[in-house]
Amino acid sequence: MIGAGAAGMMCAIEAGRRGRRTILLEHSPAVGRKILISGGGRCNFTNLGAGPKQYVSRNPDFCRSALARYTPQDFLRLIEKHRIPCHEKKLGQLFCDRSARDIVEMLLAECREAGVELKTGCRVESVEQSERFLIRTAEETLPAERLVIATGGLSVPKTGASDFGYRIAEQFGLRIVAQAPALDGFVFQEGERNRFRELAGVSADAIVTCGGASFRENILFTHRGLSGPASLQGSLYWKPGASVIVNFLPGLGADELRAWLRTQKRERPVAAIKNLLAERIPRRLSEALCDLAQAGTQPIGQTPEGTLERLVRTLQAWSFVPERTVGYQRAEVTVGGVDTDELSSKTMEAKRVPGLYFIGEVVDVTGWLGGYNFQWAWASGWAAGQAV
Ligand SMILES: Cc1cc2nc3c(=O)[nH]c(=O)nc-3n(C[C@H](O)[C@H](O)[C@H](O)COP(=O)(O)OP(=O)(O)OC[C@H]3O[C@@H](n4cnc5c(N)ncnc54)[C@H](O)[C@@H]3O)c2cc1C
Repeated sequence: MIGAGAAGMMCAIEAGRRGRRTILLEHSPAVGRKILISGGGRCNFTNLGAGPKQYVSRNPDFCRSALARYTPQDFLRLIEKHRIPCHEKKLGQLFCDRSARDIVEMLLAECREAGVELKTGCRVESVEQSERFLIRTAEETLPAERLVIATGGLSVPKTGASDFGYRIAEQFGLRIVAQAPALDGFVFQEGERNRFRELAGVSADAIVTCGGASFRENILFTHRGLSGPASLQGSLYWKPGASVIVNFLPGLGADELRAWLRTQKRERPVAAIKNLLAERIPRRLSEALCDLAQAGTQPIGQTPEGTLERLVRTLQAWSFVPERTVGYQRAEVTVGGVDTDELSSKTMEAKRVPGLYFIGEVVDVTGWLGGYNFQWAWASGWAAGQAV
């Protein structure tokens, strides 16, 4: 197995338990570096509601089999075996109480118990196939009947991320779905950047809609764009040139919002709209959105219906076209990867290259924010671990 991250370690544990002689190669000096920085250092290691609908892939059904055979409950059993204290934060997201290091220590202990040989600081220089795979490192050539690629995606290069997995796939003639950074939020174009610069640091409950998917969670204005969980989720579905739509009043339908504005107009006619709105959304956001709808300064009683209607549209369906997403330095994941048509959904083995497997994030299966990406790493690693 190449890559001692979440998927590689799970696969090695399962293969080792089955009595396979298993060697896990990692080019970084330490294993599981992405696990250590995940979930703000507490690792959101699974999601109790994980299922195929929370994953993006060219073939949305591909992940179904692996996710059904290794579930969040299965991973929880491992957590319980190692007595790791954890809690549900929200929306089924499970986090360590103490630190993500608990997860890495657990996986290392399981690797030891399963007799996995671990080589860190090990650079793989090339892979060849004759009767067996020959994995050449700086020190030695390792022959292997089966080879599992678990080298992850491109995000956060300082954790050891590399394009190695994609290069191996190409070397063996497997198709790749174009990669892009995701779960990273949006960078505004210059117009919005200037307009909303003052909002940096403002967060609000909102619905972000992008590429046909909608997420209701917090958004956070940054000095150059939009972050926060709802924006990160939206970025998973974004394609260059596409619009993102934000509803800043997710608790109110359009008709309810119109009715509320009419009531304010009748009962508080001298109040400025931006002050009224500031009772529902952060004041700085209220001011910026009223400016955008050219509806801010006059008392509501003197505001024409057309202006109020423009305000309703701005509040509930503000649309912008991002310049780009934030990029690999900050992205939690890479969308795209080894095309799932090339792999068996049961074993993760390449259909055209018997003995070669791809698992985890290097595969074109990407989950939402909230523990879904680790669950895919565990489940795909487990599936390959039963087969190698
Ligand atoms: C900041 C951040 C926070 C995140 N938080 C969460 C979270 O809370 N919950 C969640 O579900 N997901 C989270 N993710 C996503 C999650 O970390 C990944 O989806 C997951 O780690 C993928 O597992 P993997 O084993 O496929 O890849 P990785 O965990 O990235 O492991 C790949 C391993 O391969 C090694 N490697 C790469 N190239 C080579 C090579 N050429 N030779 C040898 N080894 C190599 C790497 O050093 C690494 O150890 C987060 C990601 C980031 C960046």
